[in-house]
Formats: sequence, structure tokens, C-alpha cells
Amino acid sequence: MKKVAIVGAGISGLYLANELNKNTEIDYKIFEKKDYLNLNEGYGIQLSVNSINLLNKVGFKNISASDVYYPTKVNFFQAKNIKKICEIDLKQFNNVNDRYTTLKRSTLIKFLIGNIPEEKIQFKADIQNIEYNEKIKISWSNKNESFDYIVIADGVFSKLKSQISNNHLNPIFNGNIALRANLIQHEKDNISVYMGSNFHYVTYPVNQKLEYNFVAIIKKKLTTKEIENKNILNSETFIKSLKDFISQNSIINLESLANIKCFPVFVSTELPTLKYQNTYLSGDALFAFPPSFAQGASQSIETANGILENITNSNSIYKDKISKILLVNKRSKLNHFAFHLTNPIIILIRNIVLKFLSKNKKFLESYLGKIYRN
Ligand SMILES: Cc1cc2nc3c(=O)[nH]c(=O)nc-3n(C[C@H](O)[C@H](O)[C@H](O)COP(=O)(O)OP(=O)(O)OC[C@H]3O[C@@H](n4cnc5c(N)ncnc54)[C@H](O)[C@@H]3O)c2cc1C
Repeated sequence: MKKVAIVGAGISGLYLANELNKNTEIDYKIFEKKDYLNLNEGYGIQLSVNSINLLNKVGFKNISASDVYYPTKVNFFQAKNIKKICEIDLKQFNNVNDRYTTLKRSTLIKFLIGNIPEEKIQFKADIQNIEYNEKIKISWSNKNESFDYIVIADGVFSKLKSQISNNHLNPIFNGNIALRANLIQHEKDNISVYMGSNFHYVTYPVNQKLEYNFVAIIKKKLTTKEIENKNILNSETFIKSLKDFISQNSIINLESLANIKCFPVFVSTELPTLKYQNTYLSGDALFAFPPSFAQGASQSIETANGILENITNSNSIYKDKISKILLVNKRSKLNHFAFHLTNPIIILIRNIVLKFLSKNKKFLESYLGKIYRN
């Protein structure tokens, strides 16, 4: 029986494990450096139909409807006066069984880990080294085990990536800070994108229980010390300065934000080329996008599925997924640029163009449909 090692119990690694559960010819083990997974975190995540389609194949369709939300529209607003510019109908990309979904990240993790037998996941296993002989040997806490395949899904700051790729590519700070929070009182349903100068923020329900996610992406110069020190970025003074900036540039009641967390946005610049056979990178370890297309988790699931196809059917679908990554990256950057414009005349033109494009089926199919469909 072939054995697969999965390093990292994030969305990508756990999804792959769920797929491998269905395969009686392959054994697998997940290695996770943390002691346990946080199943209470309230921050949200958006999943488009490309990943929902794959998740439904591992039973996601049976998740309680009250734990998820099915937005039907993305509404675009001007942040400064909350004037609506246009809306995009998300239903046009849905299938009968697969619908654009928003939920808490922890709801997804709880679902994915729920299907994994306890003995298949090794917690407190911080994998630092891989040895290649006849098999692939990985070691942790004075123990080791050999595998036929290794899938490295250890996130954006992957340490193993440099060992297995020819080009040593560290993610870079893209000049923006993300402020995530839970929003308690909010009357808006669906996904709302508020565009300001050098910032944007997004709100959406994460379930049917009137709980909402808030995420703001704000252009900000940071010192190396600030980037490296989570405590500075999450200090009262720093958070207040960001909240003041948003309040001065938008009409929003920030009193209802809870559990605020800030972190610098790190992105990939190039795709790595791999040195070894039977070795894969998945999710953010393979490529981390700017968060302006809400595709990180969906692409993490798609690439994990490509890896599965490659391992089980020697299917080259993994390569197709990689070209999709480059397309998603371009669109994420374009969205980011359009959401953060500063010049009033260019903003006026952007709004007119957005109004037109949001109704243009051909454009929407090419810009979003291509990404949202597998
Ligand atoms: C502000 C923001 C908003 C976002 N919003 C969305 C959204 O709405 N929709 C969307 O699709 N995506 C979104 N994303 C992106 C999405 O969250 C990520 O792309 C996704 O979580 C990546 O999953 P992953 O499994 O690759 O990595 P991770 O979730 O980071 O998991 C990696 C795991 O590996 C473990 N690990 C690390 N090193 C080791 C080691 N040496 N040994 C063992 N284990 C290790 C870690 O502990 C972790 O559990 C957003 C990202 C940001 C920054």
C-alpha cells in the first residue's frame, strides 16, 4: 500500500486527507506542529463553487444549513458615503448542488477534521527536515517514518519549501495590513465590498445566526520590527490607529467590531520549481495570493485535488491547477488595485466601468466564471 505524508493540518492538508479516506489503496498520515486545532475561531471565509463542488464530494453538503450562509450577491459601495455602486449576481455561477458559501473558518476545519481517524493525525510534529533515499523519510521528536509521497501544506511561511524547490522564494510583505474581526450588529445580508482610497473592507454573514465577518485591507508602511512583532500589531494603540483611519474615511460603526486581529499580508511572487519526484506543495505553501479575490482557501482545495489526481491516476491535472493559480493571482492584484484607487476622476471612471461590467454576462463569465467553475 502506498503511503502519503501530509505536512500541515490546514484547509489544504485536511481536504486532501478527506479525499484519501475514500481510497482503500493509499494510506496517509498528517503531521501538524500545533498541539491542537482551534475550532472556536469566529473569522469568516468565502468559498466559491469550485471548492464547494469538491467539498461536497467529501460530504460537506450534509453540514447543517444554519452553520453556513449562501450569499446571492456581492454589493459594491463607495466607503466614504456608503453609496451603492453596483452588484454582481452570484447565483449565475451556482449549480443545483453547489452554491457560493460563506462560513466560519473553524466550521470548515471542524467538518474536515471530523472525518479523520485520530491515529492518522500526529499533533506536536514540527517537521523541519525531509530525507530522500529510496523512500521519503520525515522525522519529528526523535521519531521517523518513511513514505512514498509527501505533500507539503505547511502554509504561507512554509519552512520545508526551500528544501524541496530549486528557487528559494520567501513570501513578501505586500504593503498592506489585514484587520479581521467579528461583527455583531450589521443589517446587511450578502457580501458587501466597501472601496476607499488605499483601503477596502468586506462584510458578510458567516451563518444563519446573525454573525458576520469583517475584514479590512489597508495600505500601510510597516517597519521590520512591526512586521515581525505580532504584539505591536495587536496593541491597543495600533488597532486604534487603524480604526481611526477607517472611521475618518467611511461611515461605519466600528463599535460593533469584536475580537480584532491584525496581521501583515504576505504574498508569493513566483511559483516554485520542485527538485524531487513524488513531492508536492499545496495551498499557501505553493502560492499565497493577495486576499482581494477571496480565493486562497478555494485554490488550496483545488490544488490538493490536483495532487490527489496526480497520485491516484497519474493525471496531470496538477499542472492545470498551477496555471489557474497564475490567473487568480493576476485577478487578485487587479481587484486590489481597483478597490484602492485614490484619484477622484479615476474613481468616477472605475465606478462607471464597474456598473457596466457587473451586468455584462460575457465579461462575468470570463472574469469570474473561469475561476469559479472547475
Ligand atoms: C485577510 C485574509 C482573508 C482571507 N479570506 C479568504 C476568503 O474569504 N476565502 C478564501 O478562499 N481564502 C481566504 N484567505 C486565504 C486562506 O485563509 C488561505 O489561503 C488558506 O487558509 C490556506 O490554507 P493552507 O492549508 O494552505 O494553510 P494554513 O491554513 O496556513 O495551514 C498550514 C498548517 O500547517 C501547519 N504547519 C506549519 N509548519 C509546519 C511544520 N513545520 N510541521 C507541521 N505542521 C506545520 C500550521 O500549524 C497550519 O496548521 C484569506 C487570507 C487572508 C490573509
